[in-house]
Amino acid sequence: MTPRLEALSVKRSVLWGWLVALVLVLLLTLVWLVGRYENSEIETRLERDAAEAVLDIKDGLNRNVQSLQALHSIHAKGPDINGWQTLAEALLRERREIMRVEWRNDTLDIQSFSGTPYRQGVFERFGRSNSLSDVSTACAAALRISSASYSSSYFLPQSDGMGMEVIDMCLPIMAGGQLAGYLLATYGLQSMLSELVSKQLMRGQSLAFTEADGTRLALVGGGARGSQNFVARQLLDLPGTTLVLRLESRLGMPGLFPNVLTALLTAVSLALMVVLFLLARDTRRRLRAEHDLGEALAFRKAMEDSLITGLRARDLSGRITYVNPAFCAMVGLAPQQLLDQSLPSPYWPPELSDAYQQRQAIRLAGSNLPREGHESVFMRPDGTRFPVLIIEAPLINAAGKHTGWMSAILDVSEQRRVEELSRASQDRLQATARLAMVGEMASLLSHELNQPLAAISSYATGSLNLLHDAATVPPTALSSDLQLAVSRIAEQAERAGKVIKSVHDFVRRRDQTREAVEPRDLINAVMPLVSLQARKLSVTVVTEIDAAAHAVLCDRTMVEQVLLNLSRNGMQAMQDLDPSTTRVLTLRVRPAASNARSRWVEFAVIDQGAGISPDVQAQLFTPFFTTKVEGMGLGLSLCRTVIEQHGGFLGFEPALPTGTIFSFTLPVDNAHQP
Ligand code: ADP
Repeated sequence: MTPRLEALSVKRSVLWGWLVALVLVLLLTLVWLVGRYENSEIETRLERDAAEAVLDIKDGLNRNVQSLQALHSIHAKGPDINGWQTLAEALLRERREIMRVEWRNDTLDIQSFSGTPYRQGVFERFGRSNSLSDVSTACAAALRISSASYSSSYFLPQSDGMGMEVIDMCLPIMAGGQLAGYLLATYGLQSMLSELVSKQLMRGQSLAFTEADGTRLALVGGGARGSQNFVARQLLDLPGTTLVLRLESRLGMPGLFPNVLTALLTAVSLALMVVLFLLARDTRRRLRAEHDLGEALAFRKAMEDSLITGLRARDLSGRITYVNPAFCAMVGLAPQQLLDQSLPSPYWPPELSDAYQQRQAIRLAGSNLPREGHESVFMRPDGTRFPVLIIEAPLINAAGKHTGWMSAILDVSEQRRVEELSRASQDRLQATARLAMVGEMASLLSHELNQPLAAISSYATGSLNLLHDAATVPPTALSSDLQLAVSRIAEQAERAGKVIKSVHDFVRRRDQTREAVEPRDLINAVMPLVSLQARKLSVTVVTEIDAAAHAVLCDRTMVEQVLLNLSRNGMQAMQDLDPSTTRVLTLRVRPAASNARSRWVEFAVIDQGAGISPDVQAQLFTPFFTTKVEGMGLGLSLCRTVIEQHGGFLGFEPALPTGTIFSFTLPVDNAHQP
């Protein structure tokens, strides 16, 4: 991965981290808010319930005050103890929260009393007199406000070992504007709660009286202990005393989700997290796929860029949609100059444009393209033309639809050049074969000439002898013998002449074609073949061509043959050298004399071989003389013949420090005469 991609992926993971964290925070906040909202709902309900409970109690107490007042008004005319008690008992049966009702006179002495039928001897253990101070305080307050007043609560131990909290209510009885006594009612706090408060409020909740400091005085209700308790407090403000009513709701819900809304929200949050996770996984997979795709693409691009075959894609209308660098380099145009170009293409030679357009239309119409491709000629911006081989195939996209054409293009100029060269060397081979034949003819000639020459020689010797012995031979015999000998000499000479003519005719059959050739062209022409052999023999070929050397007039093929021959000899002379030494063959061209105005150009082939020993030197140009196993021994003699036919001179000299210089001269073309 490149550093840039790595940085991107780090940045992406940081972003993902932030997203997950933010979503988590959001969800937690939502859950928390919903929880809080629901709690506050419960608390509000609880407060309302507590206020209702206080109202219920107050209502109950007021009702009781009225009932007690009614009790008193019945007996306003005068105390009728029995009647009062009957009524009081009836009241007590009805109102369970009242533990005891007392009728006292204005000095707080008990006139009569009655206890609740639901509980025996409430004051039995404690003694009523012990609570006198509470009673008198309450009654004093009641007298002061001319209305019912309550004492503070006090504990009343019971005979069963338990006890209860009670408060006294004192109601002054007035008769004709005078205080006639007091009615006292003792309330059990617990009974107050259980009797006065509506049963509905008690469901699932506990109700208690506490003191201001929280000390519990009485309690009713209370279900299973829950995980979460909600508490509401309300003041029960009574004349003379104040009690705190404490309503406690115990939610029995176990666990994390206090209610449906929170549970729903949590479920949605979990689903959201799962979706987020799946999304992250999907993105990761996508990224991996993207990365793989990127690598594959980079590999493909590298492959296309390093190809030396030109690639070109066209759509169905012939517009170029893709080219690779090799193709751009081949036609010498930038991709922008090629892409989106329709026909005719910018690399078509103008003179062939029409023909190409027709050919293109035919080719694109039919889908059976030749697998071996077709040849064409393209043009570079500088106008140079070069041959190419185009192999075309239909371009099928992923959906299997034919969308255009893909072509591979090969520059075949080098191939053509090599083909041309091999044709030329074929020509030369034929020339060499002909020259070899001439050599053969020469040996035949010498053999054929031997006979007539020997005959001429012996006839001439005979004639001389006859003339020498002229004195002893009769003149007639002498003259006829001489005549015969001389006519024989003439015959043989004629025969020799014929032999020579036949060979001359054979050699002459080759047309003499002289042309002006630049020395550089001569060297360049033999270079491919020389290089070929040089590579085989690990020889470096160096050319030194003097710009002052003018074009020469020569039979090009023959002279090339000479250069080839000399070069081959030079390289063969170096092949036995120590492999570590450098082997350099120099082909040098310069004006023959040291001044540039020379009429002759000198060609030299210089090797670094062992040189030529004196005995070899003596026979160097003798036909069929060779020191090589496979040599013909004709090369040098033919070379000399060729050069001499051109009027030039072929010679050799030792090179320094080792080796041989073979050099020959050729005449400068007249048109180039200085
Ligand atoms: P071939 O090459 O077939 O032997 P040539 O006539 O070309 O026939 O050469 C004759 C002989 O001259 C060679 O066999 C070789 O011994 C000698 N010779 C020619 N050129 C060189 C050279 N550059 N250095 C040394 N000896 C050479």
